[in-house]
Amino acid sequence: MAQVFDTIIQGGRVVDPASGVDSVADLGIRHGKIARVGEGLPRTAGVRLFDAHGRIVIPGHIDTHTHISSPWARSVDRAFGHAMLAESGTTTALDLAGEPTALAEGMQRRGAGLNVACLLGLVPHQTIRTDDPGPALLRETIAATMKKGAIGVKLLGGYHPFTPESTADTIREGNDQLAWVAFHVGTKATGSDLHGLREIPDLVADGRLHVAHINSYCRGMVLPPAEECREAVQILESKRGQLVSEAYLAQINGTNGKCDEAGNLVYNVAQNCLKARGYPTTEAGIRQALLDGYGSALVERDERVVLVSGAEAVKVWEDASTDASLSFPVNPPLSAMLLTIERYPDGEFVVDAISTDGGSLPRNVAIERTMALVRFGALSMADAVRKLSVNPARMLGLRQKGHLSPGADADITIIDEGSGRATMSLVAGEVIMMDGRVVGTGGTWFVTAAGEDAARRSGLPYQVLDLAESQLYAGWN
Ligand SMILES: [Zn+2]
Repeated sequence: MAQVFDTIIQGGRVVDPASGVDSVADLGIRHGKIARVGEGLPRTAGVRLFDAHGRIVIPGHIDTHTHISSPWARSVDRAFGHAMLAESGTTTALDLAGEPTALAEGMQRRGAGLNVACLLGLVPHQTIRTDDPGPALLRETIAATMKKGAIGVKLLGGYHPFTPESTADTIREGNDQLAWVAFHVGTKATGSDLHGLREIPDLVADGRLHVAHINSYCRGMVLPPAEECREAVQILESKRGQLVSEAYLAQINGTNGKCDEAGNLVYNVAQNCLKARGYPTTEAGIRQALLDGYGSALVERDERVVLVSGAEAVKVWEDASTDASLSFPVNPPLSAMLLTIERYPDGEFVVDAISTDGGSLPRNVAIERTMALVRFGALSMADAVRKLSVNPARMLGLRQKGHLSPGADADITIIDEGSGRATMSLVAGEVIMMDGRVVGTGGTWFVTAAGEDAARRSGLPYQVLDLAESQLYAGWN
């Protein structure tokens, strides 16, 4: 008897490197799972059919660096990031510096049907009681945020750096609780650049760590970008098996223009953006950089976050008393590309995944820029899928994602070959985006066992992750 499917995606080029598949085929979905990939699947009565001729069908993009709930960054509503990610073809997102209760609330309000996990950003006096917290406070803060549904914490070294000792304590205390620990590098001894990256081997010691957006430390602030990339690769290699990492492919960054009472820029990342073009790191420097069109400001428009420049950007920044989200084109394409394609001699990628570092930042270009690298010949299509889906699934220990074998979650991204853009995506067999338009709502909340009660109370669909199965904690005991 013929197998019955709920949905069939017809005639696309199915690329599933985990199963060794790259061929034109139909993809049959039943009960939210992949049921079969093959030619001429039977079209029984009631089946939903989607035509994917001329399109590429891949396991859904898992974005390991997004921003969809930063409650302390008040100038825009980060929850718009759900729709912005869904529009660009992402199906699963790790919020890399949010707050779990705010995440759940934002997902209920503005969710787009994504699977979402969240890290607590460690902001002194806001999400953690003191500067440079010691082991006991870290242990308590990490346990408390996991209970609220975060899967771990993010060290914000470029914005709220701790001492090297406190940074190392955070990594160790997180590891002890099998919490995800991500690090925007930089301590009070260094900054958000190659110097910060060089501290990693000592800080991580024999622990485990997610090095956030490794391309961001290769902007040519210390050495020429290509040399910085070479050193970044050596640092990752020196701790291979202990570190996971991702790079993003947008030129623009995201930062904040906050100035202190003396009129000096507070955050290291923003200072570096101005230094890169010779502007003073002051209020006057920011104002000029915005007026010159070098910097942009983030604003809400038509339920999305967009960039504005010139006098309009200055007004946004002034209206926020300088505490406004800004963006500068500081990421060299060379660094993004080198770090994306670099491999170990055994063929594995040095940098595991391609992320957006987007969501509520309008730079959700992971899929289209990865496809540009495919067209350029820098990645094969199978490699593109490895970086967008297979490896990130492995990073997080999502065994039912990152592949299209029977029984896998029917999370799928469909890409137009010509434009390189995602045209449709499904999560658990349900369409969340069609022709660039979001049709999903809410979402599925990924928590650890510690956060299960919080997830249940939220009323959102949820899934419990076991980070012991993640690549981050592979072989950990
Ligand atoms: Zn980020």
